[in-house]
Amino acid sequence: MPDFDAIVIGGGLVGTAVAYGLIRRGQKVGVLDEGDIAYRASRGNFGLVWVQSKGFGVPEYQRWTRRSSEDWAGFSTELLQETGIATGHERPGGLTPCLTESEFDKRQQLMEQLRSEAGDIPFEFDMLRPAALKKMLPVIGPDVVGASYTPYDGHANPLYTLRALHAALLKRGGHYVPGSRIENINAAPRQFSVTVRGETFSAPRVVLGAGLGNKALGAMVGLNVPVRPLRGQIIVTERLQPVLPMPTLMIRQTVEGTIMIGESREEAGFDDATSPEIIRTLAERAVKTFPFLRNVRIVRTWGALRVMAPDGLPVYEQSREFPGAFVCTCHSGVTLAAAHALHYAGYVIDGALPPELARFSTERFNVLAAA
Ligand SMILES: Cc1cc2nc3c(=O)[nH]c(=O)nc-3n(C[C@H](O)[C@H](O)[C@H](O)COP(=O)(O)OP(=O)(O)OC[C@H]3O[C@@H](n4cnc5c(N)ncnc54)[C@H](O)[C@@H]3O)c2cc1C
Repeated sequence: MPDFDAIVIGGGLVGTAVAYGLIRRGQKVGVLDEGDIAYRASRGNFGLVWVQSKGFGVPEYQRWTRRSSEDWAGFSTELLQETGIATGHERPGGLTPCLTESEFDKRQQLMEQLRSEAGDIPFEFDMLRPAALKKMLPVIGPDVVGASYTPYDGHANPLYTLRALHAALLKRGGHYVPGSRIENINAAPRQFSVTVRGETFSAPRVVLGAGLGNKALGAMVGLNVPVRPLRGQIIVTERLQPVLPMPTLMIRQTVEGTIMIGESREEAGFDDATSPEIIRTLAERAVKTFPFLRNVRIVRTWGALRVMAPDGLPVYEQSREFPGAFVCTCHSGVTLAAAHALHYAGYVIDGALPPELARFSTERFNVLAAA
């Protein structure tokens, strides 16, 4: 019976970030992961490390996101040193282009709200009109009336990030078990065990990092995790010479040269297919924003499922019924990867989540249900 300090269920960006964070602090960690037929947002996402749309009305979320984005460069360097794998992280700032005056006004209000809610932490932003915007992004189109800019935004290659996390885990002696769908957790306070493929794993801590699987797993350890799928569709083009020096909310150029176009949001249940209407809408907006894209070839489109709580915030909690069982789940697992590895894992070892994460507790769902 392999004994661990912690079992992490889920081997996507969230589970492996926490697992890596545990192992870099000397913990013995086993990661159990369902495998190729599971829903895996970490393999289908857009790759932004994004601050400027996060936390309207929830300053705790803005601060947590900002902290992760500040930590990302060091996190990326550490993974490179550990594994030789570059995550492709860059933090050149980011833009949200607006195609109408009303979009621009609304955007400005939201950015002002973020600044006022940032409290004593400075929040820099600019609302740029086309002349200033063109200096930053010469290829911007004439239909763009302006854009918001913050210096805090960036992007990374989520697949290389995931690969680096897996490689770092293995290099440090972590135990990764693929093809391991967990259907049952034997739970007692600070004593958990799971049996998979004839092998039993036990540990005083278990971290649920299983994305959409956390709803069912949470119920096994007294945690209410009402996450649901929210589909996003993405277009990727052929490789081009560098043309976009910074990411925008919907369109970014990867380090490999492809252009990614994304940011759709649909309630489609567990259907992760693409649809011509959404792809057309994404492509039309992309061509309006950057007219040169009209002549660029699309090489692939895909759909993937976000892991979404009812209020869109992360869910961080330790079970009251079964102390030692934690859940870590969110819809921005690229952005928050650094925070999960460098901070959340430490809280799991300490056995308590800090007050600044209280806003993300599952208690809020009881309030929502009672309202
Ligand atoms: C279209 C799209 C665009 C996105 N863009 C961005 C972006 O730009 N920036 C950003 O920060 N985030 C973005 N996201 C969100 C990001 O991808 C997710 O937050 C992140 O991938 C979630 O990671 P995860 O590990 O929680 O979930 P997943 O990647 O879904 O991984 C969950 C893992 O748990 C395993 N699992 C599930 N159930 C079980 C079980 N019972 N037993 C064992 N294992 C189990 C699965 O096998 C899977 O490997 C986007 C998501 C989508 C869909």
